[in-house]
Amino acid sequence: MGALSTLFAPGRIAVVGATDREGSVGRAIMENLLDSFAGEVVPVNPSREEVFGRSAIDSVGDADADLAVIVVPPNVAVDVVREAGEAGIRNVVVITAGFGETGSEGATRERELIDVAEACDIDLVGPNSLGIMSTPVGMNATFGPENAQSGRMSFMSQSGAFITAVLDWANAEGIGFKDVVSLGNKAVLDESDFVEEWGDDEETEVIIGYLEGIDDGRRFIETAREVTRETPIVLVKSGRTDAGAQAASSHTGAIAGSDEAYEAGLEQAGVIRAESVQELFDAARVLESQPVPDSDAVAVITNAGGPGVMSTDAVGDSRLSMASFADETLDAFSEALPAEGNIYNPVDVVGDAGNDRFRDALDVALADENVGSALVLACPTAVLDYGRLAEDTVELQATHGKPIAACFMGGDRVTPAAKVLSEAGIPNYFDPARAILGLDALARFRDIAEREYESPTTFDVDRERAREILSAVEDRSDTRLGVEAMGLLDAYGIPTPDGEIVDSPADAREVAARIDGDVVMKIVSPDILHKSDIGGVKVGVAEADVEDAYEDLVSRARNYQPDATIVGVQVQEMVDLDSGVETIVGMNRDPQFGPLLLFGLGGIFVEMLEDTTFRVAPVSGVEADAMTREIDAAPLLRGARGREPVDVDGVTETIQRLSQLVTDFPSILELDINPLVATPDGVEAVDVRLTVDPDRLEGAHR
Ligand code: ADP
Ligand code: MG
Repeated sequence: MGALSTLFAPGRIAVVGATDREGSVGRAIMENLLDSFAGEVVPVNPSREEVFGRSAIDSVGDADADLAVIVVPPNVAVDVVREAGEAGIRNVVVITAGFGETGSEGATRERELIDVAEACDIDLVGPNSLGIMSTPVGMNATFGPENAQSGRMSFMSQSGAFITAVLDWANAEGIGFKDVVSLGNKAVLDESDFVEEWGDDEETEVIIGYLEGIDDGRRFIETAREVTRETPIVLVKSGRTDAGAQAASSHTGAIAGSDEAYEAGLEQAGVIRAESVQELFDAARVLESQPVPDSDAVAVITNAGGPGVMSTDAVGDSRLSMASFADETLDAFSEALPAEGNIYNPVDVVGDAGNDRFRDALDVALADENVGSALVLACPTAVLDYGRLAEDTVELQATHGKPIAACFMGGDRVTPAAKVLSEAGIPNYFDPARAILGLDALARFRDIAEREYESPTTFDVDRERAREILSAVEDRSDTRLGVEAMGLLDAYGIPTPDGEIVDSPADAREVAARIDGDVVMKIVSPDILHKSDIGGVKVGVAEADVEDAYEDLVSRARNYQPDATIVGVQVQEMVDLDSGVETIVGMNRDPQFGPLLLFGLGGIFVEMLEDTTFRVAPVSGVEADAMTREIDAAPLLRGARGREPVDVDGVTETIQRLSQLVTDFPSILELDINPLVATPDGVEAVDVRLTVDPDRLEGAHR
C-alpha cells in the first residue's frame, strides 16, 4: 500500500459545501458519492439542516472524516482546508476553482493553500480539480457525469474535461479503472506523487495519464524509473510546440525546445509516450492484460495475402521482427497446410481455411521457441467462424502464455468476436499496423523494465578554477563567454588544442612559432558569437602570414560592428579534420527538467542538419554512450566506408564531463562545444560558447 492509500480508500468522506441545490457542483458530488460510495458520506454546510436526507453538520472540524472534498467558494476555501487539517484530516480534494489559474489574487490564495497543506501535513489534490475516483470502494468524488467501471488502470489527467470524455468512451468500450485523479492545479500532489503511489499499488497494473507539464522533471524521472521496473506508465503530453521564447544564443539553445526536454526526460523516466489518445489506450490495454514477449519475433497467421503484407510492413516499422521458424515448426506447417499455403512468415493458411486449420497453425506457431508473439490476422470467409476463432485465440493465448494481437477485419460481423477477445484482454483492430503497435508496446515495456540504471561517474576536476573562469562575467555587462573560457573545459578534463589569446600581431606570431605547423586564428569578441559568419576564423595560417591575418581578422570585426569589443585573437593548433568528425556537445537549461544535454553532428551547419539527440543531465556512461549511437551520423563515428573509427570513448567521456560541469554550476545557462573534433586518436574541443547567469554564480560554492 502506498502513502496515499487513505486518499483512495477512505472510510468516511466529508463534503464541505454539500447541497441539493439543482445545477450546483456541491449537489453533483453528493449525488455521485451517494450513488457509488461504500462508506459514509457527511455533508458539511452551516446553512442547511440536511442534504439529501442526511443531517448536515456546521463544520468540517466535527466531521471525523478520512477525506474532505471541498466545494466552497474560493474566498473561504483556504480557511476550510485549515479547519480540516487542524481536525486531523490528512486527505483533501479541493474542487474549488479560482486559484493559480486566475491571476495574481488566485496565485496568492494558492500559496496560502500550499502553506496550510504543509503546516497540517495534508495530501491535497487540486485545487481546480474535477475530483477523484477509486472503484474498489466505489468512490466517485467528482462532479462529472460518468462513473468509472472497475479495472486495473489508474489514470491521472491535468484536464478534468478530458476525464469526463474518456470515461464516457471507456464505459462504452468496457475499459475500467482502479483510480482516477483530476490533478487540477497540482498545488501539492503532482504527477510524481501519483506515479509513486500507483507503483506501490497492487491493484494498479498500468499507469496512464494526460499531462500538460511536469513540475519537477528530475523528481519525476527518478520516481518513474523505479516504478517502471514493474508497472508500465503511458502518457500523452500535450503542447509540442515550443513555449520557451528565451532568446538563445547557442546552437543548443536554438535546437533544444521544451518538447526535446520532455522527449528526453520521459524516455529516461521509462515512460511510454503516446502521440494520441488512441495510442494511449491501445498501449495501455495490452499492457494491462498481456504478458511481455520473451523475444521481438512475431509470427503472423493469416488467411489473406494482402493484409499479410501490410502486417509485414508494420513489423518493419516497429522494433519487432518477423520470426524465422524452427525446422519442426516448418514441418508441422507443411503437414497442416495445403500446398498453396505459405509455411514461412507470414503464414498463409489460405482463404479456404476453416477454423480447425487456423487454430492448428496458430498453435504450431506459438509453440515455436523462436516466436515471441503472434498476430492473428483474418478476413471474413464463408468457412471461417469469427466467434470460434476468437475463442480459440483466447484459449491458445492462455495455453502458451505469449502475447497475441488480433486483427479480425470487418465490421458488424466482427463485433461479437471482438467482445470475446476484448474480455480476455486481447483488443481487436481493423488495421494490422495498430495491432502490431500493441505488441510493440509490450516489447518496449519489457526493455524498460529490464533497464539497468547506472549512477553518473564523478570525475576528478578542478572546480575552483572553473568557478573563477565563470565569475569573469561579474565584471562585464555581457553574460556570454567564448573561447576566452576555454580553460573551463580544461578544468573539467575536456581536451582542448594548444592555443592562446593575444592582443597584438607580434604576440600572435610568437604563439604561432611555438606551435607545430600551421595554425588557426579566430577573432575573440563578446559581440561576435558565430565567428565564421563574419569571416572571423582562418584555418591553416602559415607562421609568416600570422601578423597579416591578425590585422585582417580585426578589420573584419570592425567592418561587421564598428563598436565591437575586441578581446583579441586566438591562435590555435590545427586539428586534423580530414580523419575526424566534427561533433557538437551542448547544454541548454530547461525550466522543468534542468540541464538538457545535446549531442550531434557538429560544425557550422548544426542548426541546418539538426542531427541531434538529447538527455537530461546528469547522465551515466551508458546514457552518454547511447547518445553517440542515436544520431543518424552514428556510423560515421564508428568507421563507415573504410574510414578509421574515431575515439568514441573520448566523445562519451566528454559528454559525461560536460554533464558534471553543468550539474555542478547552475549558473551555466547554455553551452556549446562546437565542434568537438573526434579523430581516431582522441577528441579536441576547438570552440566553446556559453551564457552565464551572474545571479546564480553563488550556486557554484559547495
Ligand atoms: P564559430 O563556430 O564561431 O564559427 P569555430 O571555432 O567553431 O568558430 O570554427 C569554425 C570552423 O572552423 C570549425 O567548425 C572547424 O571546421 C574549423 N576550425 C576551427 N578551429 C579549428 C582547428 N583548431 N583546427 C581545425 N579546424 C578548425
Ligand atoms: Mg563553433
